[in-house]
Amino acid sequence: MWGYPFYRVRREIGRQAKTVLVTAGIHGEEPGSVEGALRWLESGEWAKWRVNWFVLPCINPYGWERNQRRNAQGRDINRQFRNPAVCPEAQLVKRLVKGHRFVFVLDLHEDVDSPGYYLYELCQEPPFIGERAIAAVGKVIPINRNRVIDGNRATSPGLIRREANLSRLKQRLRWPMAYHLFLNGCRHILGSETPVHLPLQQRARAHNVALRTALSALGDLR
Ligand SMILES: [Zn+2]
Repeated sequence: MWGYPFYRVRREIGRQAKTVLVTAGIHGEEPGSVEGALRWLESGEWAKWRVNWFVLPCINPYGWERNQRRNAQGRDINRQFRNPAVCPEAQLVKRLVKGHRFVFVLDLHEDVDSPGYYLYELCQEPPFIGERAIAAVGKVIPINRNRVIDGNRATSPGLIRREANLSRLKQRLRWPMAYHLFLNGCRHILGSETPVHLPLQQRARAHNVALRTALSALGDLR
């Protein structure tokens, strides 16, 4: 991709096993997301879970190398999933995930303005797991407790639960990757957002705590 390798890491234990997708680095100026995905892979903790792993640790390598949000075309990849023909990274992600049924997705991001950690939860029906993840992450990193976060009213401290209304999502002109995944069958997606003013390893750890807690909350995956 623009002269850079595009990595996909998979562990498959069987067709009957559930598959978890972890994505990071779609925004190049969010290095803690890539670090979080790599830390998870390097820790070996993934092996404790009885799931198939599908990890895209750096979706925007061009932006990551330059510490810039957008790709080589100047596009925000995370807005191109409705019309991916204009964006090679979005096109490639769509092709790679096609045919997979993900029981859960953790999409790693960072926020340059946020005073603390927060989560987006896109889920059609209970059980919701956002509150539990926030409680666990709050032990290792401060939580953003503002009533409005990134322009959205917080559902509870540090959590923005997105309305998972299929027909309304379809009407949106620009789709982030999460909408594409949701509309293609994944019914539980968390967007994990770390504040960039904290040390990189602390941010990476926070993403890992969110993932571990979410997997535990979903149950039946060990
Ligand atoms: Zn982002």
